[in-house]
Amino acid sequence: MTIQSGRNFLHTPGPTNIPDRVLRAMMRPAVDLNDADFMAMALSCFGDLQKVFETESNVYIYAANGHGAWEAALVNVLSAGDCVLVPETGHFSFNWSVMAESLGLEVDYVEADWRRAIDPDLVAERLRADSEHRIKAVLMVHTDTATSVTSSIPAIRKALDDAGHPALLLVDTIAALATVPFKFDEWGIDVAVAASQKGLMQPPGLAFNAVSQKALQMSEKATLPRNYWDWRRRHGREFYSHFCGTAPVHQLFALREALDMVHEEGLDAIIARHQRLAGAVRSAVEVWCKEGALSFNVTAAEERANSVTTILVDEAYDATALRETCSSRFNVSLGAGYGRLQGRAFRIGHMGYLNEPMILGAIASVETCLALCGVPHGTGGTQAAIASLSGSES
Ligand SMILES: *Cc1c(COP(=O)(O)O)cnc(C)c1O
Repeated sequence: MTIQSGRNFLHTPGPTNIPDRVLRAMMRPAVDLNDADFMAMALSCFGDLQKVFETESNVYIYAANGHGAWEAALVNVLSAGDCVLVPETGHFSFNWSVMAESLGLEVDYVEADWRRAIDPDLVAERLRADSEHRIKAVLMVHTDTATSVTSSIPAIRKALDDAGHPALLLVDTIAALATVPFKFDEWGIDVAVAASQKGLMQPPGLAFNAVSQKALQMSEKATLPRNYWDWRRRHGREFYSHFCGTAPVHQLFALREALDMVHEEGLDAIIARHQRLAGAVRSAVEVWCKEGALSFNVTAAEERANSVTTILVDEAYDATALRETCSSRFNVSLGAGYGRLQGRAFRIGHMGYLNEPMILGAIASVETCLALCGVPHGTGGTQAAIASLSGSES
């Protein structure tokens, strides 16, 4: 085993850094599930999650990872044989569509090249062609963590409205929430899917749905089998109904602490920080790309995510070796190319609990590894990141 001193720099796009405060909040004995303070604490999380989603509608908390919230979104509003429209954004739109299929839904996949945001015109075209309204939901991934492409939710809402189509809008914002604006009510979203371990600074293990009135009504008629995921079972007067059984006590203490931190920093400031740090990463990558061996996966600058950056590596060079060198030599963990990009890309995660020195450390380490691994790159990426953060960009 290699001995590594100092801290691990965790730049995988989930899980992300957990603040010491959040870790400490979990260092306690279990509590009586009927303890009044505990129940009040747990219930307070629902209201504060509504603020994060910018909604007055219901929020549900599951002891699950993101896949659980995906499944919850589908089984609550759909029935066997229903058609769902899934615009391709990368490996996550694909995985969600595979789950939909496995649940007995018909998937209409809007193919794309993984390098651009969802084209709202293509979505509108498919919806217009569906004059019988067989499509019951559009499944959109806000930021696809494999490709690091971020799509516009208002643009897809408008596509639905312009087509006069009644399908629900389901949005996976697992890798976008709290890194870019997200306005559930204002943008007319029907179901939002999120998880604890990306922008929200908690351990993996909690998953969330925010649900519109329209989606709640659909859930009354939907016939896919469901029990644990069923929103309707979570409205009971008894406390345990909110969690369909034992509450995930320690996860909820972590959630409470993380929500306090979100409140203290402020959502707008958090989003501005992500914009600033992502800007620094992009400035560095821009410089590295000058020698032609590396390139941004997302071609349009305004579609690049604030949470993760996917960098393509020319096939003459070894993306896996680069990532492994970063890990073994510098204790910096990067994301691997995922899905179709396996072995052809690496990803720098920059979401959650991060500040400037952490980002500069990661950027400088990647730049050093590019040199160590003999991957041709423009030098001065770190300097460009410094310039970006100090507002002295040329
Ligand atoms: C991480 C992620 C998921 C899956 O979440 P798990 O917690 O790994 O189940 C789904 N969608 C997106 C966009 C993600 O980033």
